[in-house]
Amino acid sequence: MATFVEATEQRKLELAENYQAIIEKINRLNPKVNLVAVSKIKPSSDIKALYDAGVRHFGENYVQELVAKSQELPKDIKWHFIGGLQSGKAKDLAKHVESLYAVETIDSLKKCKQLDNTRERVGGTEINVFLQINTSGEDQKSGYNSDVLDELEEIVKYLLSDECKKLKLIGLMTIGSFSESTESSSHENQDFKKLVQVKQILDEKYKLDLELSMGMSNDFEQAIKQGSTNVRVGSSIFGARPPRNA
Ligand SMILES: *Cc1c(COP(=O)(O)O)cnc(C)c1O
Repeated sequence: MATFVEATEQRKLELAENYQAIIEKINRLNPKVNLVAVSKIKPSSDIKALYDAGVRHFGENYVQELVAKSQELPKDIKWHFIGGLQSGKAKDLAKHVESLYAVETIDSLKKCKQLDNTRERVGGTEINVFLQINTSGEDQKSGYNSDVLDELEEIVKYLLSDECKKLKLIGLMTIGSFSESTESSSHENQDFKKLVQVKQILDEKYKLDLELSMGMSNDFEQAIKQGSTNVRVGSSIFGARPPRNA
């Protein structure tokens, strides 16, 4: 199974300490918040080191990388797919990642149906989904418009219908804008505030209690103060990532 060399003792210690430091900060604010360790571009040996320390929730951004890692790492890891989902790739996720726990970046009905239909066809386990909301209105960000909710409601209705077999709607996700995430710590993040508003509307209308996936290394504490239930932290645990195309 394992095709990689284990991390050094020093690296194992460093990862466990970094993870613990984040957990302590989370616990001071709200111990119920789920921490997803974002391991994109980092080696399987790093993931295994944290796994051995008891960590189960990991986040990945690239389908091929997630497929490869999920095949060589323990099957009880709870993988979160948090990358941009291209049409067609949803099938690979549903087919090849048995222990896919959640897809946090659903932003179209078409991709959502691909994921559901493929998972049904291969007889896989249920997948939790978060709908991605573009709260900042930035063009380069994916996700549903947070001001016009028609399209978003269309997908909510699909997910709650009998037509949908293998997906479970559990929450909303956003990536805050850079400017909002780098404001002073007392500043209320406007992106997170918008996500909370969308949750309130949907909860009320469809009798839900949606989770909120918001907050990364720079802004997870602020996100928790504003109601986040799921934070996605990468570089503060694993160290800085090289630029993707380096
Ligand atoms: C990379 C990434 C993260 C983690 O970012 P860090 O700043 O390294 O903590 C969280 N969420 C998404 C969607 C990401 O792509």
